[in-house]
Order: sequence, then C-alpha cells, then structure tokens
Amino acid sequence: MYRLTLSDGGVVELEESEIDRLAGSLRGDLLRQDSSHYDWARGIWNAMIDRRPGLIVRCAVPTDVRAAIDFARQHGLLVSVRGGGHNIAGNAVCDGGLMIDLAPMRWVRVDSSAATAWVGAGATLGDLDRETLACGQVVPLGINSTTGVAGLTLGGGFGWLSRRFGLTVDNLKSADLVSTGGQFLRASEQENPDLFWALRGGGGNFGVVTAFEFSLQRIWPEVLAGLIVYPLDQARSVLQQYREFAAQAPDSLTVWGVMRKAPPLPFLPENVHGTEVLILALCYSGNPDDGAALIEPLRHLGTPAGEHVGRQLFVNWQAAFDPLLAPGARNYWKSHNLAALPDALIDIVVEYCQRLPSDQTEIFIAQMGGATNSKPVDATAYPHREAEFIVNVHGRWDSASDDDRCIGWCRQLFDALVPHAMGGVYVNFMTADEGYRVGEAYGANHQRLASLKQQYDPDNLLRMNQNIPPSR
Ligand SMILES: Cc1cc2nc3c(=O)[nH]c(=O)nc-3n(C[C@H](O)[C@H](O)[C@H](O)COP(=O)(O)OP(=O)(O)OC[C@H]3O[C@@H](n4cnc5c(N)ncnc54)[C@H](O)[C@@H]3O)c2cc1C
Repeated sequence: MYRLTLSDGGVVELEESEIDRLAGSLRGDLLRQDSSHYDWARGIWNAMIDRRPGLIVRCAVPTDVRAAIDFARQHGLLVSVRGGGHNIAGNAVCDGGLMIDLAPMRWVRVDSSAATAWVGAGATLGDLDRETLACGQVVPLGINSTTGVAGLTLGGGFGWLSRRFGLTVDNLKSADLVSTGGQFLRASEQENPDLFWALRGGGGNFGVVTAFEFSLQRIWPEVLAGLIVYPLDQARSVLQQYREFAAQAPDSLTVWGVMRKAPPLPFLPENVHGTEVLILALCYSGNPDDGAALIEPLRHLGTPAGEHVGRQLFVNWQAAFDPLLAPGARNYWKSHNLAALPDALIDIVVEYCQRLPSDQTEIFIAQMGGATNSKPVDATAYPHREAEFIVNVHGRWDSASDDDRCIGWCRQLFDALVPHAMGGVYVNFMTADEGYRVGEAYGANHQRLASLKQQYDPDNLLRMNQNIPPSR
C-alpha cells in the first residue's frame, strides 16, 4: 500500500497497482519517494523549503497534466504545481501529496514574422530569452534567467523592460490549460475571456497552464547596462537624487537601487569588497548610442566606489545577477509597493543597511511606473497599476542556525516601512507566512477572482498558492 496526503490533511492508502496504472498512463515519469532523482526533483530555489511529496508527476505533455489532475481529484489528494520552482513561498512542493512538475515541458517556439512566441510551462526566462533574442525580439520578463516563465507570468512579471513594454502579462496573448475538472481549455481575449483575465495576475488558482502564447517586442540586440556603486555613507543623498532622476527617466531606462555588502566584483577596489554599498543597476533599451548622455547624471550623484557600465547583449545582461541569486541558500522576503521614496523611507533603509544580518542579504528598490501603470486596475487580475517602486527586503543566508536572526531583521525592517507603503504587495514576492496579505495582493480584483475561482476550481483543488478561496 502507498500512503498519500489528502487535501483535508488526512491520509489515504492506495494499492500499488493504482500507482502503477497512473505511471503507465504517462509519457513522462512518475517518481515515488524511493525513486532515483526524487530528491533532485523535489528541490526548489529556496533551500528553506524541504518538503517530500508522496508522488511527483514529471509531466512531458498536457495529457500527463490531465492524468495527474484526474488522479488527484479522484482520490482527494493534496496537489502542488511546479513551474520553474523559484517561488519564495515554496508552494510548488507539497508534503505527502501529488506534485505536478512541469519542468520537463521546457520548449519554446518563435514565429518571428508573426512576432509571437509559444512557451511550455517548464521553460525558464533564459530559455525564452535565448530563442526570442536570437530574432531581435523579446518578451518583458524578470531579472534572473533561471526563474520559471509560468509562475512569473501568472503573478504579473516585471523586469528591465517592463517600463517600456508593460508587464509580462500585458504581453500574453493566450494560455492553454488543464482545468481542475480535467478539460483542455484555451484562454484569450476571444476564448474564455474571464479566465484569461484571471490568469493575468491571479496566480496558479484557476487551472494548470501547459503553454503560454506571447506577443514579441522588437529591441536592439545590445543594451546599455551595468552597475554604479556608491559607498553607504553617500546612499542617503544618492537615493534622494535618484528619486528625482527616476521621475524624469524615459520608459526605456530602468534603474534599480540595491543596498547590500559589496560582492568581490572585479571593477571594485579590494577595500570596498564586503563593505555596505548602494548599487544603481541600470538598463537602457533604446538606441545605445543615445544612452550614455542619458545615464551620465547617475555617475555624478556622489563619488562612486566603482562602476561597470557598457553595451552588452541583452541576453547576457538578463543573466548578470544569476551568480548572486543561485539556488541553495536560505531566503526570506518581505516586500511593499511604494508610490514614492520619501526621505523618511530612505533614512530607514540606509539605517538597516548598516546592520545587515548576513553578507548576502540585500534591500532592493525596483523602479516600476511607465508602461507597468498604463492599464486600468481592472484590465487584468494584476491590480498594482499605481506602484512607482517595489521595495523587497531579501534576507539570504546559508545556515539554518541563522534563521531566527535573519528573519527577525527582515520583519523589523518590513514593519518600519509600513507607514511609507501603499498597502499592496506583489503576489510573486510573498513568503509562506503571508497568507494574511492575500487581500493586499489581489487588491480591488479580489472579489471577481473569488467568483471565478468558484467557477473554475470550486473544490479548491489548487490551494497550494497564494490562495483565493472560492466564493459566489
Ligand atoms: C532569484 C529570483 C529572482 C526573481 N526576479 C523576479 C523579477 O525580476 N520579476 C518578477 O516579476 N518576479 C521575480 N521573481 C519572483 C518570481 O516571479 C516568482 O518566484 C515566481 O512564482 C516564480 O515562478 P516559477 O515558475 O519559477 O515558480 P514555482 O515555484 O514553480 O511556481 C510558483 C507558483 O506558481 C504556480 N504555478 C507555477 N506554474 C504553474 C502552471 N503552469 N500552472 C498553474 N500554476 C502554476 C503554482 O501555484 C506555484 O506554487 C524572482 C524570484 C527569484 C527566486
């Protein structure tokens, strides 16, 4: 007999022959807890998550997804869905239940002349960027190439090009999914438009997406991008000037502020390594010849400790932060949406940066605005169309013995920032203990999402996510 966890927390014992039947129906693999590769397959980006699913269905094709959903529904199993496995909350993995692992569906197809890309639900941002940028086209995605397209898209998706081209969801044309009732559905403006609306920011609540169709935008192959690093004692003044600069910046320029201990970057003097710094990370995606003059003021907001800015292939810039964001560390995030960067907020982040709890912890301020805010709040399920910045407190460390100290620091800084925040939160940045913020994540669109949840997943089969309970 094989024990599996039910969605209500109970346990069921199934005949081995039933598990064998499921395995036999799949094009992909079914992993049990004693299968080779089981531990590899259950691992995700955040090493704080250490869960052991009862079964992992490594889906190769949409019919594998349907088989997994049908099996889970029939037995009342707890279900989790894994795309790229990067979500900080770790909902991709369940304990004892059935994990639907889409990682094998890692394909990308580009039709350059139609400016369209089709992407399997297991593809990473790097997979998609590589294929589209080879044609001089792009989908605006996030800033770390190993992140999954699926989870990022379902929550909204922003990065270096979003101020120019909108969120990832603003570039979504359609999605293919398997409903919790086991039907194959397409969602687009024409087909199931309500569902299409919900998928664009409502997280993984409405079905298991097997493929995405995106519009492609044309860009220069090279961007002007890089880092300008200021010592922390200049951070207050630099951030105040950055605030003025950001308000005037064209949508093709995006500048983020990252406060942390300086990594041993080769362009920084050795005596700066390991000291607290403010890094302005910038990307200009217009004609690179015009960019130098545009970013010049950022080099004179104080006396930089070092800088490394130049033309480079956008596909390379998209992977520039991968080494600092490699999987395997313990991570805890707390984030706020911001309408502005008042002096009081700047004072708080600078003060907390003086006592970072670990060498890898960072506080980053992502610049939003531009095209991310060009749609009405109810145009897509993603509701945060007024945020000008997102501040993310990113605690990161290696040893479990540091958990309490590092998490405590993150929470304290988050609390200190509350008076300066808008009250909204980006659903893709929420940690496992932030269920109480789900209303803030879906904002004014929460009630419509709850009604659609009732329509598309009335039994809440897909509950391991930032969950929207079904409601009429
Ligand atoms: C290092 C790092 C950098 C990041 N940078 C950015 C950034 O620049 N911009 C940004 O917007 N976000 C960023 N994020 C956040 C990222 O968008 C979320 O973590 C996102 O959920 C990751 O998607 P995933 O598929 O990798 O994650 P997973 O953990 O696999 O999935 C997350 C959740 O999405 C749902 N899900 C996944 N796939 C499907 C599917 N096919 N069908 C239905 N539901 C599904 C499930 O509920 C799952 O629990 C970053 C995250 C990390 C770790």
